[in-house]
This record gives sequence, C-alpha cells and structure tokens, in this order.
Amino acid sequence: MKHRHGRPVVDSKAGPAAGTASAGNLGLNSERVRRRMVERVRAQGVCNPRVLSALAVVPRHTFVDGALASRAYDDCSLPIGHGQTISQPYMVARSAELALRAIADPRSARVLEIGTGCGYAAAVFAQLFGSVYSIERVRALHERARDNLRPLRLANLRLVFGDGAVGLPAEAPFDAIIAAAAGEEIPVAWGEQLAPRGVVVAPVGAEKQALAVVARDARGKWVVQEAIEEVRFVPLLGGVVG
Ligand code: SAH
Repeated sequence: MKHRHGRPVVDSKAGPAAGTASAGNLGLNSERVRRRMVERVRAQGVCNPRVLSALAVVPRHTFVDGALASRAYDDCSLPIGHGQTISQPYMVARSAELALRAIADPRSARVLEIGTGCGYAAAVFAQLFGSVYSIERVRALHERARDNLRPLRLANLRLVFGDGAVGLPAEAPFDAIIAAAAGEEIPVAWGEQLAPRGVVVAPVGAEKQALAVVARDARGKWVVQEAIEEVRFVPLLGGVVG
C-alpha cells in the first residue's frame, strides 16, 4: 500500500530464531511473551486492531533495566529511576485508542506526548500517528529515552527536553496531546495548542485521578469532557530537572 511506504519498522529481530540472543536478560522468546501481554490488554477492553499491533511490535523489555526485563511484559508500570515509572501497557493502549477515535487521518496527525519517561509509549505512538513529539522535564530520562529509541530508528518521532506543562508551542497545533502525568487540571496551554477537532487525553486529579478526554470542535470551541475511568499516574510537575 502506497501510504504505508516509509512506515517505521521497530523490531529489529528477524524472528524467533534471533529472539533468544537479542532478548538478553529476558531469557524468553520476547515475541511470544509480548503477544500474551497484547492479549491481556485486549481482554481489558482495548479493541482497536492498530493499537494492538503497535503494542505487539515495540520491544518493551529494551526500555527497562536488565534486572526488570523478565517483568517487562507484565501489564504493570515499572520503575525507571528518578522516581518515575514506565507506563502500564494497558494505559498506553487505552490513551492511544482514545486519541485515534477522534482523529480522521492518523497517518497525517501530529501528536504531542507529555512525559517521555523511558520512551516506551512514544515508540508505540510513533507506530500509529504521522508525527509524534514527546517532551520530558528530567534531562537524564530524556537522554535515556533517546538511547533506548535509537535502535528503533523512528524517523517520525522527535524527543524534546523541556516543561510539557506549557505544551510545545513551537510545534503546535496538535491533533492530540496525550499526557503520561497527572495534573490537578488540564493546562490551558494544551487546549490552546490543539487543532480544531483535536483532543487532549490526560489523567487529571491528585489522590483520585480519572483519565479525561477533552475535545475541541471545528471552530476551536472546547466541547467534550469525558472522564473515562479511574487511573493512577505520576504527578505532572512544573519546570525542568538537569
Ligand atoms: N510514557 C512514559 C511514562 C513516564 S512516567 C513511558 O512510557 O515510560 C511520566 C513522565 O512524565 C515522567 O518521566 C516525568 O518526569 C514526566 N513529567 C512529569 N511532569 C512533566 C512535565 N511538566 N513536562 C514533561 N514531562 C513531565
């Protein structure tokens, strides 16, 4: 298909035969374990086939420390240092699905992720959207994500070091802004940087958080606010570290 031309291929492993050596500490065939993770995410209600395929190709075990690699395909968040965690696969999938629902043509969509962390979710989003920007406020994590993502050669993904609470005005407007950190409310700047019909998918709240979807109509007016489900994310903090 013509429009598939140039799509990034993320899993560098040739197949099961190459699996054992390149899976390193995983000590298992990573493709098989990953497929089981995808099945669990599907069982939790994520049914968009493109999202499930994206989860199936991103090697999550390469985004966590060697010591945690054997747990990389459990559907949970795991520590990545600096008090932060890699997002739970289900949450990455659910957020992507909610953004996709609102986007007419994902292949030409511009998406901003707030909170790169180790880069896992960014790699998943880069499978789904035309261009993806991901911003991280902790320099060490931004650099680590850059190292983690380098072998995947995702030409449509840009990483930015900075405070995502103010969005990324230089690259706006975005068709979707997807946050991996929860503020007590959605920053006004995110709304201002949305394209018409764009959406923000973000956890909102302090102790009790809900995954929220906020949309803009064709004239730029804020129209929909939905609280999807209760969630638990790290806090959205201001300023940068490092
Ligand atoms: N999507 C990431 C999840 C990382 S956890 C992954 O797949 O690994 C959320 C991240 O948001 C943390 O790394 C945290 O440092 C970052 N964060 C919190 N507030 C932020 C802000 N204002 N701007 C940018 N990043 C922020």
